[in-house]
Amino acid sequence: MGIRYNWQKDEILAIYNTPFLELVYQAATVHRQFHNPKQIQVCKLISIKTGGCPEDCGYCAQSSRYKTEVKPEALLEKDTVLNIAKKAKETGVSRVCMGAAWREVRDNSQFEQVLDMVKDVTSMGLEVCCTLGMLTANQAQNLEDAGLYAYNHNLDTSEEYYSTVITTRTYGDRLNTIENVRTTNVTVCSGGILGLGESIEDRVGMLYTLSNLQPHPESVPINILSQVEGTPLANQPAVPIWEVVRMIATARIIMPTSDVRLSAGRAKLSQVEQALCFMAGANSIFSSDDNKMLTVTTPCPDYDADRQMLNLLGLEMRPPFEKQGKTPAGQVTE
Ligand code: SF4
Repeated sequence: MGIRYNWQKDEILAIYNTPFLELVYQAATVHRQFHNPKQIQVCKLISIKTGGCPEDCGYCAQSSRYKTEVKPEALLEKDTVLNIAKKAKETGVSRVCMGAAWREVRDNSQFEQVLDMVKDVTSMGLEVCCTLGMLTANQAQNLEDAGLYAYNHNLDTSEEYYSTVITTRTYGDRLNTIENVRTTNVTVCSGGILGLGESIEDRVGMLYTLSNLQPHPESVPINILSQVEGTPLANQPAVPIWEVVRMIATARIIMPTSDVRLSAGRAKLSQVEQALCFMAGANSIFSSDDNKMLTVTTPCPDYDADRQMLNLLGLEMRPPFEKQGKTPAGQVTE
């Protein structure tokens, strides 16, 4: 099967609803055609600016609108970020994702500091991803010039359900930022969250939008909601593992070349459940040294536990810059 950018919602729904084992088999088959099934990309997320965000994303502990455990912090010092990145690299991590709880990037000294961090972490031989909120084409260019490998900007859910979860920006704003990133060679990381109270049609709707982007996002994170006390979505029921696997498998089949990332919520899954996700085509994870992913409320398995799991499953960590022929300087070589 080739790569398609014209998937229809009914086709995606039919894939999602395929009998479970058949679906996993089909996804595993596609996975083997387009990827080395032994390799898993391991990423480290660093929250470079935590809390105090003016946006109202109903799932987020960092929104200033909700009373959560997260307290606003200043932008991290570059040396702190470099130390975390160095430690991550020593454990085999290939990508460092730097997240700031901003609505949008402003052309100020803080952005200059982030550009500096991107430059220095890239020169350590690591792929760098940023998630900084909305971005102009010019700012995307500045990030590319600093060596940025990827920009994360999630769609979260379907266009129809989006305003139930977030009111301070629109789906169109999200797509606009993705388009701005696409004016550069920086790769796109965009996915969503399961467990927001969305219907299966909403999940399909999100995959429809992602799979109709040309090219597809190089990275598609599938997150499972971490219910954070104090947020509007604190009481959402847990997502059954079967639905997580269905979502991963469907994303794998319709966006065969993308990395599908098992992201937030992985700490809640057993190793057997994670193995099922890898079988269904997930080939990227976040790992950490402090059991924290983004904030105090989003747990993440630690490096040792993950190394042990990958060994157990006969999987290996993918080295940096192995995909898309990108070099540390951020130039596409093929
Ligand atoms: S998800 Fe991002 S944009 Fe939304 S409130 Fe949290 S930090 Fe802000």
